Amino acid sequence: MDERYRERLAGASEAAGEAGLSALLVTPSADLRYLVAYDPPPLERLTCLVIRPGRDPVLIVPELERPLAEEHVPAGLAEIRGWRETEDPYAAAAAVVGKAERLGVSDQMWAAHLLRIQRAVRPGGTGLASPVLGPLRAVKDDQELEVLRRSARVADEAFHRIVEERLEGLTEREVAGRLGDLLLETGAERVEFTIVGSGPNAASPHHEPGDRGVRAGDGIVLDFGGTVGGYYSDVSRTVAVAQPPEGFTEVYEVVAEAQERAVRAVRPGVPAEEVDRAARQVIEQAGYGDRFFHRTGHGIGLEVHEDPYIVAGNAEPLRPGMCFSVEPGIYLEGRFGVRIEDIVTVTEDGVARLNHAPRDLLVLR
Ligand code: ZN
Ligand code: ZN
Ligand code: ZN
Repeated sequence: MDERYRERLAGASEAAGEAGLSALLVTPSADLRYLVAYDPPPLERLTCLVIRPGRDPVLIVPELERPLAEEHVPAGLAEIRGWRETEDPYAAAAAVVGKAERLGVSDQMWAAHLLRIQRAVRPGGTGLASPVLGPLRAVKDDQELEVLRRSARVADEAFHRIVEERLEGLTEREVAGRLGDLLLETGAERVEFTIVGSGPNAASPHHEPGDRGVRAGDGIVLDFGGTVGGYYSDVSRTVAVAQPPEGFTEVYEVVAEAQERAVRAVRPGVPAEEVDRAARQVIEQAGYGDRFFHRTGHGIGLEVHEDPYIVAGNAEPLRPGMCFSVEPGIYLEGRFGVRIEDIVTVTEDGVARLNHAPRDLLVLR
C-alpha cells in the first residue's frame, strides 16, 4: 500500500489531538482525496471519514458505494462501514465519534450534513478542519512536487502554443475555448478555468470571457489552469496585440519587477506576508498601490486555492515544499490590466519557479 496515505492519516490524527479535537470529520472534498485517495461526488447521502486521535480511522459510506470506496481506498488504510438506505448515517457517525468535546469538520462539508451531525453528536463545540489539515496539505512531498511541476509544464506549453496563433479577430470566448483545447492537447486531464480579458476588460481580474473581439492595440490577460494527476496549474501572462496600448509598457515593467522581487523574497522561514509586501512595495512606489487590490498569491495543489495564502496578516513562516502562486497585477479601469503569475515552490534554501513561460512582454502579430 502507498505509505504516504498512512502517514497523512497519522499526521492528521496527531494534529487533531494537538488542536484539542475529539474527532475530525471529512466529507467528499480535496481533504478526503488527500487523506484516503477517495474522490466520490459530494451527495445528500453521507460519506464521512472519522479521524480520532490515537484510534483507527473509519470511513462511513452509503452501502451502495461501498464497492467504489473499496476500489479506491488503499486496502487496510481505514475501516469502511456501509450504511443502508433505511439506516440513519448520522447516528452511525455519532456512534463512531462517541462523546465529543470539540469536533473539526471539513470546510466543504454541506450544511445539510453538518447540522445533522451536530444534532446527532452534540459536541461541546465545532470548528473547521482547515487549521489542522491546511498546514499538512501545504507542504508537498516529492511525488506531489513532481506532479505539480508536470502540471505547470502543461500550462506553459499551452501558453507557448496560444501565442503562436493569430488572436486578432477572435472573441475572448473563442480564445478561451482555444486555450482550453490546448491545455487538453498538451496533457491536462481537465480544464478548470480560462480567463481571457482583452483591452479594458483586463482591468477586471476575474473577467468572464465574452463576445468582445480581440483587436490591434489590445493588452490581453490570459489566466488559466487545469489538472494533471489531480494537481492544479494556474498561470497568468499578459500580452499585447500588434502594439501595446498607451502607457502599457511602463505598467508591464512595474508588474514584472514586482513579481520578480516577490519571487526573490521567497525562502524558508520568511513570513508569507513578506512576499506580498515585496510585490506591493514595488507597485506602491510606482504610484499604483490602489490599483493592486488583491493578495499576491495562494497555495495550490489538490485545490486551485489552498494554504498558504500570500497576503498581509499571514505571518505563517514559509516551509520547504510549500507551493503557491506569485501574481501581482495592476488594473486601470477603462484602459487595461496586467498580471503575471507563476507557481513557485519553497526549496531548502530558496525558491524555484514551476512555470517557465516567458515573462518579457510579448507583442503578438
Ligand atoms: Zn484569481
Ligand atoms: Zn491565475
Ligand atoms: Zn492564481
